[in-house]
Amino acid sequence: MKTKEDKNSALKKRKKSILSVGFITILLFVMILGLMMYAQMLQEDLRDEVRNKLKEVSNQNVLIIQKEIEGDRNALIEIAERIGESGLSEEWEIVDTLRSIAPRYSFSRMGFYKPDGLAYTTDGVVMNISERDYFKEAMIGNFSLSELLIEMVNGEEVIVFSVPIVSDNKIIGGVFASYSIESLQEILSVSSFDGEGYTYIVKKDGSKVVDSANPISFQNMTNIFESMEQADERNGQSVEELKALLENGDKGYVIFYNKIGKYMYCTPLGINDWSLIEVVPVDVMETTTNYIMARTYIICMILIAVYTLIVITVFREEYKKKKQMRTLLYVDELTGGHTFAKFKEEIEKQMKNAEDIKKAFIVMDIDDFKLVNELFGYEEGDKLLRYLWRVLSDSCKGGEIVARRLADRFTLFLNYQEKEEIEKRVISMMEKIRQCSIGRETEYMLQPVFGIYYVEKSGENAEDMLTYATLAHNLAKKERDCFYVIYNDEIRGNMLQKKQLSDQMEHAYRHHHFVVYYQPKYEAETKKLAGAEALIRWRKSDGTMVSPGQFIPLAEETGFICKLDKYVFHEVCLAQKRFIEKGLKVVPISVNLSRRHLDNPEFINEYKAILDETQIPIECIQLEITESAMFEKQDQFISIIKRLHELGFVILMDDFGTGYSSLMMLKQIPIDVMKLDKTFVDDYNDIRGEQIIRCVMQMAQKLEIEITAEGVETEEQYVFLRGIGCDTIQGYYFAKPMPEEEYKKRMEQQ
Ligand code: C2E
Ligand code: CA
Ligand code: CA
Repeated sequence: MKTKEDKNSALKKRKKSILSVGFITILLFVMILGLMMYAQMLQEDLRDEVRNKLKEVSNQNVLIIQKEIEGDRNALIEIAERIGESGLSEEWEIVDTLRSIAPRYSFSRMGFYKPDGLAYTTDGVVMNISERDYFKEAMIGNFSLSELLIEMVNGEEVIVFSVPIVSDNKIIGGVFASYSIESLQEILSVSSFDGEGYTYIVKKDGSKVVDSANPISFQNMTNIFESMEQADERNGQSVEELKALLENGDKGYVIFYNKIGKYMYCTPLGINDWSLIEVVPVDVMETTTNYIMARTYIICMILIAVYTLIVITVFREEYKKKKQMRTLLYVDELTGGHTFAKFKEEIEKQMKNAEDIKKAFIVMDIDDFKLVNELFGYEEGDKLLRYLWRVLSDSCKGGEIVARRLADRFTLFLNYQEKEEIEKRVISMMEKIRQCSIGRETEYMLQPVFGIYYVEKSGENAEDMLTYATLAHNLAKKERDCFYVIYNDEIRGNMLQKKQLSDQMEHAYRHHHFVVYYQPKYEAETKKLAGAEALIRWRKSDGTMVSPGQFIPLAEETGFICKLDKYVFHEVCLAQKRFIEKGLKVVPISVNLSRRHLDNPEFINEYKAILDETQIPIECIQLEITESAMFEKQDQFISIIKRLHELGFVILMDDFGTGYSSLMMLKQIPIDVMKLDKTFVDDYNDIRGEQIIRCVMQMAQKLEIEITAEGVETEEQYVFLRGIGCDTIQGYYFAKPMPEEEYKKRMEQQ
C-alpha cells in the first residue's frame, strides 16, 4: 500500500525536478549570454583591428603622396638651380633644355615663364600665366604648389609645381611642371582591404582633389560633404564631424553610410590644405565576423535544443508522476475503489450544486476488525475489506459514492426520499456483510457498525459531516446492543459537555484541584487499621467536590486517567513519607490503576522512579486493578502484573464479581488480594448470593489469596463477612473516604 511517506517523497522529487529545470534554465541563459557577449567582444575587436589597419593604410598612402610630391619638388628645384647657374637666358634655349630632360620625370608637361607672365611650354605652347598664383609666388622667390587647376591647353586636371630661376641674384623667370591628378589617382588606386578600401584627397572645404575610381566609392564626387549627404540621410552628424576634422587639420575616424556603414580615416597631407581620406566598410571583415557569429548561433541553437529536450523530458516525467499521484490520491490500492480524498471532492461538488439535501453521510466499520487480522491473517483481512467494498459499492445507486477512509472504516454518501429507506438499506448491507465467511472452518460472526448523519443544511462541509457521522458511529460501537446510530443534537450536546468537562479537568490538574482521600480498611477479626485505599476527589474552586463517578469514565476515555493515577501515586508516596517521618506506624495504601495503563507498560518505570525519588518502601503502596480490565488484554494484563510483582508490589483485584471472570481464571492470574465488590456484599442475605460468596472464599483461600470486602455498610454485613473468613473490611460501616488529616488522626488513635 502506498503510504503518506511515499506521497511525501513523490512531492519532494517533484520539487527537485522543478528546481533542476530552473537551474538548467538559468545555466543556459548564462551560457547564451556569455556566448553573445563573447561574440560581441570579438566583433568589437575585429572592428578595432579594421580601424587600426585603416589608419595604417592611410598613413602609408600619406607617406607615398608626400614622397612623390617632395621628389618632384626637389627635382624641379634642382632643374631651376641648374638653369640659373648655366647662364642661359633665352626662352628657346631654356625650353630646349627642359624638353631634353622632361622625359626623365613624371610631369605631364614642363615650361619656362618670364617675369612678363609669358610662359613657353615644352610642347610648344605660349600662354599668359600672369594671373596664376604660382607665377606670383615665384616672382617673389617662392616655391609653390598650386591648387587643382584645369590645364589651359587640354582641360586636364593638374597641379602645378613652380620654382623661380635665380641668376646673379636676380629672378629671371621660373620653371613650372604640371602633374596630372590622374597619376596621383593611380598611385592611390593600389588595392587595400581586398578591394573594399579606397582613398580620396579633399580640400578643407570638402571639394575633391583626388577622386577614387573604386566602383563602391562616391561616383562623380565634387564635394565629399555633398556626396555624403546625398548618400544617406543619417550622415548629417558624420558630415559635421568630418568638417571639424578638416577645418582643424586633425586626424580622426568618422563613421558614415553609403549603402552600408563605413569608416573613414582622415589625415592632413601637409600639402596645401589637403587631407587624405581612407575609407573602408565597417564590416570589411564581415566573413570572419559572420563565421564567428554563425558559430555562436549554432552553439546557442544546439544548447537551446538540448535544453528543450531536457525540459520536455522533465515535464513528461512530471506529468507521469502527477498522474501517478492522482491515482495514489484517488484510488484505494487495496479495493480499487475511491479514497476518502476523492470521496470528499465528489461530495463537496454535490453539496455545492445541491438544491435537494436529502442525503445521508454514513460511517461504517467492523467491530474488532483487528481480531480478523490477528485470528485469520492479513490476507484474509484484506479479502474481507474487498468484500466490504463490493457490498457497499453494489448498494450504491447513481450519484452515490463510497470510499475506504482508514483500515476498515468506510464512508458512504447516499440519497433518500424517506429516512426509513436509509435504515432499510443499512440493515440490508449489514445482512450481506454478515454473509461473508472468513477462514475455512471457523464460523466467525462479523459485527458491522454504522453511524448515520442526515444532512441538515445545504453547503455543509465534508469534514463536519464526517464528524457528526463519526460521533454517531462511536456511540454505536459503545452501545453494544445496536449496530447503527443516527446522529442527533443530543449526541452533539453530550460531546460538547464531555469536551467542556475534559477541558476543565486539564485546568483543574494544572491548578492542583485534585486531592487524594483515604478510605481506611480494617482487619475483620481485630477491627484494627489494616490499610487504606486512595481515592481521588476533584475540589472545585468554589469548594464543592466532584465525585469520581462523574469524571473518571471520561478521563478513561480520553486517557487523562493515566496522568491522574500517576499523580495520586505520587501524592500517596509523599503522604506515606510524611507519616513515616512523623513516626507513625504506617499501613499499606492501595492506589487504583486504570485499565488504560495496559496500553503503555512504560508507566511501571515511571512509578518505580517515584518510589526511588521519595524513598518509600514498596510495601507501603499497593496497586488495585479492576477485574474487567483483564478480559480485554489478558496477555498484557498478566505480563504487567508479573513485572509489578517482580518489583515487589502487592496486587489487588478490584471489583471482583462485576466482571465475567470465572473462578478458574484466578489460577492463571497471580494476584495477592481480591476485593469483593459491593454488589456481592449487598447480596449476602439472599441464599444464592451467600453461596456464591462462600464458594469464592473457599477458592481464594485455596489459592492463598487474601480477601477484602468492599462497601460494607452494616453491622450484619460485617458480622457475616467476618464469619465466612474475610480478612479485611472496607466500607462506610467503618469509615468513609476522608482527607489526609483525618486519616492521620485515625492512624494516631491506633
Ligand atoms: P473503587 O475503586 O471500587 O472504589 C471504591 C468506591 O466505593 C469509592 O467510590 C468509595 O467511596 C466507595 N465506597 C466505599 N465504601 C462504601 C460503602 O460502604 N458504601 C458505598 N455506597 N460506597 C462505598 P469513589 O471514591 O466514588 O470512587 C469510585 C470509583 O472511581 C472507584 O471505585 C474507582 O474505580 C474510581 N477511582 C477513584 N479514584 C481513582 C483513582 O485515583 N484512579 C482510578 N483509576 N480510579 C479511581
Ligand atoms: Ca479501588
Ligand atoms: Ca472496588
